[in-house]
Amino acid sequence: MDDLDPHRIVTAARTDRGRLRDENQDCCAEFEAEDGSRLLVVADGMGGHAAGALASRMAIEAIGEVFAGDRASSPEELLRRAFAAANARVLKRGACEPEGMGTTAVAALLRSDGAWVAHVGDSRAYHWRGGALKQLTEDHSWVLQEVGQGRMTAEQAKAHPRRSALLRTIGLDPEVPVDVARVGLAPGDRVLLCSDGLWGELDEAILADALAAEPAASVRRLVALANRAGGHDNVTAAVARVPAARRRPRWGIAGSALAAAIALAGVARWCGA
Ligand code: CA
Repeated sequence: MDDLDPHRIVTAARTDRGRLRDENQDCCAEFEAEDGSRLLVVADGMGGHAAGALASRMAIEAIGEVFAGDRASSPEELLRRAFAAANARVLKRGACEPEGMGTTAVAALLRSDGAWVAHVGDSRAYHWRGGALKQLTEDHSWVLQEVGQGRMTAEQAKAHPRRSALLRTIGLDPEVPVDVARVGLAPGDRVLLCSDGLWGELDEAILADALAAEPAASVRRLVALANRAGGHDNVTAAVARVPAARRRPRWGIAGSALAAAIALAGVARWCGA
């Protein structure tokens, strides 16, 4: 829908340590631009002694900075630049870490022309419409590669001890390929971003069911269900809901002043553990 007003997108995000891990190495944040465009980001860090948590936070900060400072690039260029900046920053900092550090990242840029999704690793994006859920990202994981080449079934992949091994990570190499895709949005659609601590615990039917609620209720429920299912890993969910009605005119000084204030502030909301 070309007349989507991004100011009216409703979002919510939640991250949780889970039930077995000592710390939460997931991170998520939302950034908002002057025109109401939103950038939701979820990152799942890896590394010992707090390095994983640092990696996921640094990557999101770098992505948010590029988003805040770049109004000229196309959505795809912007996301590629943002992920390259995140990769450079985590790689540089990781050189000081004895065990190294890295992170996944999945981002959804929600604009009037749809959702632009970028990712590296196995954090996922899903698109929900009328109760049906579609996965937008393909995990950059070793098990998915094995499934693709016929050496493993999807069921075997789910339970495989190496299911978390990634083929692409932010912060590991000087260059990292980033997948970017666009999906059109219709009134009432949802976009879900999540770490593997969510999708690894819950079937898609359960994800789809939880997304029927309002975003704040959805993320609460998703995290609670993942913990009830075992909470084996840190769990993060970020949800955006497209407004159900069509764009209303936004005129007047109050609206412009508010938009200017948001632009100056560079609105960023971090979701806490
Ligand atoms: Ca994880």
